[in-house]
Amino acid sequence: MNAKTPTSVPIARTSLTEAETLSVLNPLRSGWLVQGPKVKEFEEKWSIFTGAEHSIAVTSCTTALHLSLAALGLQAGDEVIVPAFTWIATANVVEHLGGKVVFCDIDLDTFNIDVKELRTKISPKTKAVLPVHLFGLAADMNPIKQLASEYGLWVVEDAACGFGSRYHGQHVGALGNAGCFSFHPRKAITTGEGGMITTNNSHLAEKLRRLRDHGAAMSDLQRHMGARPYLLADHPEAGYNQRMTDLQAALGAAQMRRASDIVTERRNLAAIYDDAFKDVDWLRVPARIAGLEHGYQSYPCLFEPSRTQAAVKSGKGAEIKAINEARNAWMDSLQRAGVSTRPATHAVHMLTFYRDKYQLKPEDFPNAFAANDCSISLPLFHGMTDEEQQYVISVVRSGKP
Ligand SMILES: *Cc1c(COP(=O)(O)O)cnc(C)c1O
Repeated sequence: MNAKTPTSVPIARTSLTEAETLSVLNPLRSGWLVQGPKVKEFEEKWSIFTGAEHSIAVTSCTTALHLSLAALGLQAGDEVIVPAFTWIATANVVEHLGGKVVFCDIDLDTFNIDVKELRTKISPKTKAVLPVHLFGLAADMNPIKQLASEYGLWVVEDAACGFGSRYHGQHVGALGNAGCFSFHPRKAITTGEGGMITTNNSHLAEKLRRLRDHGAAMSDLQRHMGARPYLLADHPEAGYNQRMTDLQAALGAAQMRRASDIVTERRNLAAIYDDAFKDVDWLRVPARIAGLEHGYQSYPCLFEPSRTQAAVKSGKGAEIKAINEARNAWMDSLQRAGVSTRPATHAVHMLTFYRDKYQLKPEDFPNAFAANDCSISLPLFHGMTDEEQQYVISVVRSGKP
């Protein structure tokens, strides 16, 4: 090992410049800490970057999804179609509003919702579909929008990982009725906790702004800037408090100055991995699909792809479990070598709450089951050094146990 060889590489690492770090001092010094001028600035920058007409900052992607469904009018008993392989929050928000989660399997090649199966999940009670742009690769939105208009469904994009993801030239987030982004530290831009809703519908945007702020007809900032700041706003509806703070927004707005550089750097890191692993037949790198620009929130691979695909095809759950054990043994040896990895995400139908509530078996969504058990994400984050990446490459190429 030469002196520069790292002894450990994390799955992700927050990378902030000194100026970005110091940006949180501005609201602290001005005394305006809650949603105010910095939130407005961050929202404006977000709209410019994504091309969405309206951006509404909130406390997380989870609250963004919840607020979007609430603003669209989701009622108790309504059905919402959710991919079975995603972060649990995508399904939880439907439960929070009293809705019924209807899972749909994914396409194992892209890890995104299987559009052919989606049609078969639509019932007279279906009100919305929540496509997820998982790991930064856009879901196939044209056929989803086609189905949505045919059946009168709302489309709310879970774009938690969608920073820098483009679908036939258009940034994700305003392809359906609304799109929801996350600023959790595992995502490309971070505010600690935080989220953003994007939409091209101005009525929906107004409603979202009211609902995040206790249902108030006017925000604090508007009131303070107005002629009579001493009078309180009216509240036409019973809203929530899902406002982002100005401390978080200052941090987010500061990172937007390097938004394009961050996306470019993540794509470059992915291209180096793609090239380094092209002859490793037991590891499938993330899909490259014509017309889709990947944002690489992470670098999700499939372990033993031929064996996994054959197991799905023949419906052999025991074989998936055997591959899962081999993957876990490999993850263990990577961890011992100092390389942090994770399963790409989880199959929500296999988690206790959903499994029990809806009486589901892993095999009900075979691709999600296989993705849960046989995927592995390798370290990828902007700010990753060449030495770190070359170390990961050498450890992976040295083989599985
Ligand atoms: C991270 C993530 C979320 C949740 O985002 P928070 O900001 O932590 O609430 C939701 N969906 C997906 C697909 C995610 O990756």
